[in-house]
Amino acid sequence: MPAMSLTAPHPTLSIVCPMHNEADGLDALFARLLPVLQATGESFEIVCVNDGSRDDTLALLQARRASVPGLRVIDLSRNFGKEAALTCGIDHARGDAVIPIDADLQDPPELIGEMIRLWRAGFDVVLPQRADRSSDSWLKRATANAFYRLHNRIAEAPLPVNVGDFRLMDRKVVEAVKRLPERHRFMKGLFAWVGFRQAVIPYTREARHAGHTKFSGWRLWNLALEGITSDSTAPLRVWTYLGMVVALSSFVYALFIVGYTLLHGRDLPGYASLITVVLFLGGVQLIGLGVIGEYLGRLYGESKGRPVYIVREAGGDDAA
Ligand code: UDP
Ligand code: MG
Repeated sequence: MPAMSLTAPHPTLSIVCPMHNEADGLDALFARLLPVLQATGESFEIVCVNDGSRDDTLALLQARRASVPGLRVIDLSRNFGKEAALTCGIDHARGDAVIPIDADLQDPPELIGEMIRLWRAGFDVVLPQRADRSSDSWLKRATANAFYRLHNRIAEAPLPVNVGDFRLMDRKVVEAVKRLPERHRFMKGLFAWVGFRQAVIPYTREARHAGHTKFSGWRLWNLALEGITSDSTAPLRVWTYLGMVVALSSFVYALFIVGYTLLHGRDLPGYASLITVVLFLGGVQLIGLGVIGEYLGRLYGESKGRPVYIVREAGGDDAA
């Protein structure tokens, strides 16, 4: 284990839970999580990050600090999004092993015992893998599959398929993730990039038990774009090849026109083909510009160097 400047006694296990409007399911979460954690016999903390909830999540969390052992509540100054909230929780976690978990019980806490067993057996990362996604809609499954296929074709470190943020990470993995400085945080991509020895546990994903998903189609689409552009520059390179293909075909077409004119004489009409080619090329160039703009925007965001999240108040922290 790498040297850590932890002077205060720290727990073995840190559960990290980002929460945005999760008041409805909070008690159910603790009711299922706590027995599992206590059964492991390990010391633990539960780091809940309130990501700008507009319901009673924060008040409820603070009230539960009396009854839930090891509960730490970190309140962000506004809604920063799940990836930022998760980053915050991981930054504040003090355990030798860190497990991010969704608040909606879609990640079964019952797996934690097995995850710890594999961690103790020497694995640095333990990945519960959704063997069955039948609780997700057909469209969500199809688009998720397409995303993984595309991402893994062009990215340097492939994402394990059907694996979420729910996983166990050893302290050294957590420290490695913390060293990745990017502001745009596609956590699954960052987790995959750092590598380490991994074990997989298949499980069945359940439906959300309370409240509803915060990830609309549009948000998922943006997350997918984020995932692709943060892990690969292939979309930038495509344009070089497309340009070459278009240039080459127009050259061949030019030769054809010269030959045709020599054989058959001049042929004036051609407005339709001309306008089609002009519009097509204009469209292709705009798409290319858009892709470059996407990366430029990311670069701009990174260059500002703003913090990923702002903590309003961190309760239950002795030191930080
Ligand atoms: N979440 C968050 N900030 C947000 C959106 C979501 O912290 O802006 C949390 C949410 O409270 C939950 C987790 O991220 O604990 C996953 O969210 P959700 O269940 O809505 O996503 P899904 O399971 O549909 O992908
Ligand atoms: Mg969910």
